[in-house]
Amino acid sequence: MELLNGKETSQIIMKEISDAVRNRKSEGKKIPHLAAILVGGDGGSITYVNNKLRACEACGFESTLMRYDDSVSEEVLLNKIHTLNEDKSIDGFIVQLPLPPHIDETKVILAIDPMKDVDGFHPMNLGKMALNMPAFISATPSGIIELIRRYELDTAGKRCVIIGRSNIVGMPLSILLSQNKEFGNCTVTLTHSQTKNLKEICLQADIVIAALGQPGFVKEDMVKEGAVVIDVGITRVKDESKKTGWRLSGDVDFDQVAPKCSYISPVPGGVGPMTVASLMMNTLKAMDLKGK
Ligand code: NDP
Repeated sequence: MELLNGKETSQIIMKEISDAVRNRKSEGKKIPHLAAILVGGDGGSITYVNNKLRACEACGFESTLMRYDDSVSEEVLLNKIHTLNEDKSIDGFIVQLPLPPHIDETKVILAIDPMKDVDGFHPMNLGKMALNMPAFISATPSGIIELIRRYELDTAGKRCVIIGRSNIVGMPLSILLSQNKEFGNCTVTLTHSQTKNLKEICLQADIVIAALGQPGFVKEDMVKEGAVVIDVGITRVKDESKKTGWRLSGDVDFDQVAPKCSYISPVPGGVGPMTVASLMMNTLKAMDLKGK
């Protein structure tokens, strides 16, 4: 069994990005600038945004954080998005989800200029991705593909089962892995909460990707010998032995499943850091697209 070490891989990618940024700087060119909008004080969201801002620093990017109280109105948020769309100094920006219930997430995503949509959530980017056209691909699916690329895993003709069909992970990943291109060409089964015989379906898979948000869901009897297992799940679970009182858990029962795998990604240190590295790659691309 070999670990798919997302932490180490993401550090290599960010080093490559910071080298590219240093070169740009020495040529007197603009350096990338990512802005992030954070609404409310949810612990998870604050941690995710802080990780992204730290990554900006590591890559040599400029970054700006705009924080709003939970009670911010939809109108104020949409106005901010319009301002960021027009601001030429900002290459890309993200709105950290989830948003409070009184704000319509779809409206917010639709308001973002697709050319600055480095999260790849806008339908324009999702549509282009589906047609295999150049687009911003949302950070988690593209981070997973990048992890597969860096480990040179064979995907062509392999049976891949994805558990979870969300718009930000499972659904786009199912499209990417089934496309006729390098690190695609899988035969993909996209499963969800209505799927019957999930265990039997998973047992046929050469590659299992778990993205459902249920800690330890994938057990040893769901995975065939020699499979590749990629764990997307991140859930805080109670752990009295930690100072915080919690630890992060993936969707795979790692201790049970790992001995059966050819490759497996851990949580933490797997898909999470790759997601952040992908966001940095998208931000660099956003600047290049504008020919700055
Ligand atoms: P969502 O809650 O949006 O979607 C979960 C999906 O899992 C749904 O499609 C749901 O089915 C499916 N599902 C739920 N229960 C089952 C079940 N028992 N059997 C089969 N399918 C099931 O989740 P996200 O995609 O946003 O996130 C999934 C996990 O990944 C979470 O733990 C999240 O924290 C993590 N995550 C990690 C990221 C990273 O950077 N590492 C980034 C994004 C997410 P249905 O559609 O029928 O409801």
